[in-house]
Amino acid sequence: MANIVAIVGRPNVGKSTFFNRLVERRQAIMNNEPGVTRDRHYGYGEWIGKHFTVIDTGGYVEGSEDVFEEAIRRQVKLAVDEASVILFMVDAQMGLTGLDEEFAKVIRQSKKPVYVVANKSDTTDSAFHEGEFYKLGLGEVYAISSTTGSGTGDLLDEVVSHF
Ligand code: GDP
Ligand code: MG
Repeated sequence: MANIVAIVGRPNVGKSTFFNRLVERRQAIMNNEPGVTRDRHYGYGEWIGKHFTVIDTGGYVEGSEDVFEEAIRRQVKLAVDEASVILFMVDAQMGLTGLDEEFAKVIRQSKKPVYVVANKSDTTDSAFHEGEFYKLGLGEVYAISSTTGSGTGDLLDEVVSHF
């Protein structure tokens, strides 16, 4: 079975920043479903000798608000269908938002391993908000910073334990 890690979450939480830190080499954007896969990027990563593909899901939730639930459902479903492990990224500086809860509703329907990743955990504000993410009901919250790299090693240790 392929080792595929999908990074999902609302726009601006830092998915692409983490993706760029993780991948060694980018694969061409796959485009077999126009308008749907357009914004998904694939890359290859490695951690403690384990190799995996990373999917960065795009920001097509932005824009028209009335279609956002449908867009979330589609984004998450596509990523989750392909993934072996799901990273659900939230913004520790912003705290829990309604949109995060919408994502969580869809993610909870998956049987695959999910890690809640509280990104931007690099200020005192972020430490204040971290506890809120336990309300998502998705278990342990991994506080990381995609810009400094803090916490990413512990998260990746867990992720590659599935491979
Ligand atoms: P995406 O829309 O989820 O892909 O988010 P981006 O990766 O584009 O990041 C959105 C913004 O958050 C950018 O301005 C990033 O520089 C910033 N950002 C991403 N990760 C971190 C982090 O760990 N700490 C801080 N302080 N800012 C971050
Ligand atoms: Mg992005």
